[in-house]
Order: sequence, then C-alpha cells, then structure tokens
Amino acid sequence: MVMLVDVPRMSAWIRDTGAQQAIAQITARLETDFSRWNQFDKVERIAAHSPIGVIELMPIADADHYAFKYVNGHPSNPAHGLQTVTAFGAYADVHTGYPILIAEMTLLTALRTAATSAMAARHLARPDSRVMAMLGNGSQSEFQALGMRSALGITQLRIWDIDPAAMDKLESNLAPLGFDIVRATSAEDACHGADIITTATADKALATIVHSDWVTPGTHVNAIGGDCPGKTELDAEILRRARIFVEYEPQTRIEGEIQQLDPGHPVNALWQVVAGETPGRMSTEDITVFDSVGFALEDFTALAHLAEAVAGTEYAGELDLVAEPHDPRDLFSLLQVPAIPRTLAS
Ligand code: NAD
Repeated sequence: MVMLVDVPRMSAWIRDTGAQQAIAQITARLETDFSRWNQFDKVERIAAHSPIGVIELMPIADADHYAFKYVNGHPSNPAHGLQTVTAFGAYADVHTGYPILIAEMTLLTALRTAATSAMAARHLARPDSRVMAMLGNGSQSEFQALGMRSALGITQLRIWDIDPAAMDKLESNLAPLGFDIVRATSAEDACHGADIITTATADKALATIVHSDWVTPGTHVNAIGGDCPGKTELDAEILRRARIFVEYEPQTRIEGEIQQLDPGHPVNALWQVVAGETPGRMSTEDITVFDSVGFALEDFTALAHLAEAVAGTEYAGELDLVAEPHDPRDLFSLLQVPAIPRTLAS
C-alpha cells in the first residue's frame, strides 16, 4: 500500500502541527538537504507553457529516494474561482522503484516555499529584521509571513495588493495570529521602512512591482513570484545593486529575475551559503536578493519530512496503487477478480 495524504489529511496535519511549526520543521530539514547538495541528481524542471500559464514536472533523486511534483501556474485562475498554483507529487524508494507516498502538494508547496524563503532570509537578511513588506496577498502570503516570523521574528507586515479583497483576507487570517498589520496605500508605501520585501504577485508579465529607489541599503528582497520565462517582479536596477542568491542556477537563468540580466552576471548559490562555503550577508548595508523560482529539492525535502511525520498516523491514508500479484510474474492473475468492487461499479 502507498501512503496517501490528500487535501483533508494535509489540512488536518498542518492544523494540528501548527502552520508555523510545520514550516520551521521543513526549514530545518532544508538546511540539511541543501548542505548535501552534491548528493542529488538534479535537472531543470520540464515546463509546458501556454499563453496563460504553465504546467511543470519537477523530478529529483538521491541514492535512496526519488521525488517528483506536478505543478501548474495560471495567474488568471482566481478570476474563475480556481487556484493560481496547484500541485501533487510522489516520494519513492530508489531501491525498489516503489512509491512510498502520494500527496497533495498545493498546501505543501506553500509550506516549502515559505520554508525556503525562511532559510534564505536567515542567512541573508539582517538578524534584527522585524518589518516585512508583503506585496501580493494571495495564497502564498500567510505562509510567507509565518516563515519569516519563525526565521527572524518578523512582527510587522506592511501589506499591499492591487485587489483590496486580498488585503482584507490576509488581514483577517493573520491579525488573530498576533501580527501587527499595516495596510499600505501603494507598493511604494508598503516598502517604506521594510527590512524585508517579499514579492508574491502573479502575472505572466515582465512586471515591475518594486522600483529600485524604494529599496534602501540593508534590505533583503525575497522575490518569489517571478518564476517563469517572461514573468518578473523587480526593477533590474535592484539586481545590479544587490548580491543575488539562487537555488539551481541553470533553472533560475531561464525563469528568475535574473533573466533580465546578462547571462554572465554573477550570482551566488544558496546551497553554498547554507553549507558555509560562501558568505551570505557581508554587511548591514548589503542589499540581498533571493531570486526564488522553486526547485525540486525543496519538494523532495517537504515530501521526505511529510512521509516521516505521518507514517503510522491518522494523517496517512492508504492507496492501493501498485499492482502486486501473488506471483510477481503473473500480472495476468489480477484480471481474475471475483467481481467489480462496489466503488468502481457505482
Ligand atoms: P495568487 O494568485 O493566490 O496571489 C497573487 C496575488 O498577487 C493576487 O492577490 C493578486 O491580486 C496580486 N497581484 C497581482 N499583480 C499585482 C501587482 N502588480 N501588485 C500587487 N499585487 C498584485 O498566487 P499565489 O499562489 O500567492 O502565488 C504568487 C506567485 O508566486 C505566483 O506567481 C506563483 O507562480 C509564485 N510561486 C512561486 C513559488 C516559488 O517557489 N518561487 C512557489 C509558489 C508560488
């Protein structure tokens, strides 16, 4: 049997663990996995683009486990009552090839994206950061805020979205959790006095959500929304002023903010910072940019953590997904079933 964590089980696991605690646990495991970066078999994700969106497959493996995620990005979906990003994925045993876990990954992606932002910020933001501008108040935003509180103790959020209903939603979700929330009147206003600027907007366009003259020395920019060719959020001048940190450079060159720069513009590998091989923030005046696009290792880590956390608990269902005849060479025997199971017949 394969473990199944569907949406109700994932929701219950996160609720009972606590979203901030789950993000913190995944952040800790990410630090371990990024530190052993060279043990992973890595490849850029495989993207199928359409004019209004993308569907991506994200595989990765180490010597013992394999994982993949199927994920979409369709910024116009919310106008039709659908999520911009949805995902599911699998975690498997390399030694047998058998899947161990199948999971919904829409919620898990929000957790692992927040955990990755938190890990990056812990190395790149000023340790005394307390104020974060949150530009784009959609599905990722609450998780991003909780990740930054867990990593650095962020207490104040300066929120901005072109849709006031998204700001209402973020405020009502996070105010009860103890955040001091300031409703900004513009993106520029949101950036005013922010130690960290997080961009999580969704628009398949070369957008400029943050202008360079709004970014003061010492700021950490956590840019998660520009994650596709032709989709960016930052004024290129910010990138020229900053030290830039990326996940998997071949993928980020295609998908990240740095698609706006010369292909040879220097960037730093986040894993080398985590492993202690490259300095992160070097002075209080540095502008640092985490040019996040989302990499398969983050999904591997999240699935590995989930598999261990839910094994043997009520959060793991069972899925009869792998055909296992009594004689492994007699697959045909499975056709001699006594009757069609009621669930299939109905
Ligand atoms: P969402 O559609 O739920 O929310 C996006 C929000 O951005 C909406 O509320 C929208 O009104 C707002 N917005 C759009 N244009 C804006 C602008 N110019 N200024 C201010 N607000 C604006 O999407 P989501 O699930 O929160 O994802 C946000 C982005 O993050 C997407 O582009 C998605 O692809 C990306 N993402 C990246 C990663 C990663 O690992 N880097 C992971 C998940 C999602």
